[in-house]
Amino acid sequence: MENKLYNNELAFELATKKIDESRQGETLTVERPSTTASNGKKFYIESYGCQMNFADSEVVASILSQSGFDSTTEFTDADLILLNTCAIRDNAEQRVRHRLQHLQSVKKKKKGALIGVLGCMAERLKEKFLEEEKIVDIVAGPDAYRSLPLLIEEAETGQKAVNVLLSREETYAEINPVRLNSNGVTAFISITRGCDNMCSFCVVPFTRGRERSRDYESIVAEAKELFEKGYREVTLLGQNVDSYRYSKDPKLVGKKLVDAKYDEGVVNFARLLEMVAEVSPLLRVRFSTSHPKDMTDDVLHAMAKHPNICKYIHLPVQSGNSRVLELMNRTYDREWYMQRIEAIRNIVPDAAVSTDIITGFCTETEEEFRDTLSMMEFAKYSMSYMFFYSERPGTVAAKKYKDDIPEEVKKRRLQEVVDLQMKLSLEHNKADVGKTFEVLAEGTSHRSEEHLFGRNSQNKVVVFPKADIKPGMYVQVKVTDCTSATLKGELVH
Ligand code: SF4
Repeated sequence: MENKLYNNELAFELATKKIDESRQGETLTVERPSTTASNGKKFYIESYGCQMNFADSEVVASILSQSGFDSTTEFTDADLILLNTCAIRDNAEQRVRHRLQHLQSVKKKKKGALIGVLGCMAERLKEKFLEEEKIVDIVAGPDAYRSLPLLIEEAETGQKAVNVLLSREETYAEINPVRLNSNGVTAFISITRGCDNMCSFCVVPFTRGRERSRDYESIVAEAKELFEKGYREVTLLGQNVDSYRYSKDPKLVGKKLVDAKYDEGVVNFARLLEMVAEVSPLLRVRFSTSHPKDMTDDVLHAMAKHPNICKYIHLPVQSGNSRVLELMNRTYDREWYMQRIEAIRNIVPDAAVSTDIITGFCTETEEEFRDTLSMMEFAKYSMSYMFFYSERPGTVAAKKYKDDIPEEVKKRRLQEVVDLQMKLSLEHNKADVGKTFEVLAEGTSHRSEEHLFGRNSQNKVVVFPKADIKPGMYVQVKVTDCTSATLKGELVH
């Protein structure tokens, strides 16, 4: 992997936790249910940002195909063009604005074509989006997708249509996502929506609203259905999966729900993990994203108990310094985080850990930055997502703190973190040479038609000879070589 400093968003990605760069702007096709009459119109959707957004596009596709739309991967061919947007950093928003400029020509050519923006940028800007981007006809926030057919009808009359209401209940639980561009092997299942943490640098609580957990029965049913369809891995998705809590008892809400125990009818994340793992030992279970404050030993014991719960945790640290963590309102300090890493090592010793890191947060001193480097050395991350601080309008940090670290210092610190992570990832992979792993084959290697790729339980990409192996099969691979991003091996029969 080339070691040069990319711009903030592309800083460095080693594996495909988040939707990798190559999937940004991805489009999709769906089969309209045969039971639904066609309305003679086609929709086109492009997705940006995180896994939650890609999972949401699958819900949107289901809602539109249920209301008679067919899909197309050619936006020139579409009656409805949708961009599912991200607002996590300024660059993500600039990318959408450039795309909208590009779509200007389409509207001129295709009379009546509508353009809609969905997702976090739509929620952040609301009606302002229409003022700033005149070609936009529809603005719908992450909790408004059920109203899309109505918004489309409204826009077809020539009016601008907006729904950016956030909900405390909406989980789209009974909507069967349409698996798009899927490899037929792995799939996402969203288990919570929104976030109740208020990390001072983050827009998510403002763009995705309050946290709510989805009914565990609908989650287990979706996992079962996917397994019966041949999928062999599901990733449980949430901004903070560890705070998953669901009870069928309507009286158990808020603090009562948080304090209630399993035998009082509350399912927490550890119990949900086990429920999904019990669907079949052949169904791998992953989850993302964990929060150091809420990740309990119960979750770790559930991982240790079930071989099909993958031995991989994404545990964002953001900074290694307690004063900076307090400014970020991460609600844990350096010592707490290190204790969580120790707990993982004690209870799930073969687990790999990855993280998110922000360099150059407001007032971060050089010495405090070095605490982040020493935390990386301590945690020995297998990979990380690293960014320099990008002030986001409306966040607590933007209101309270001056974005006072010069950009060249932010970038220099980011480069130091990138260099260290390259070293750690290579060491982590070198330690796997000679070991044999169970790998779930996912598809043909991007580099060689004669090779397949898959991932081991630690979420590492493994490349091996194709032989007669098909995607969806489990194989034993002995690692013979590696780079900082990939393990290479041979099949063990
Ligand atoms: S946990 Fe913090 S960083 Fe993550 S989505 Fe919630 S507010 Fe944002």
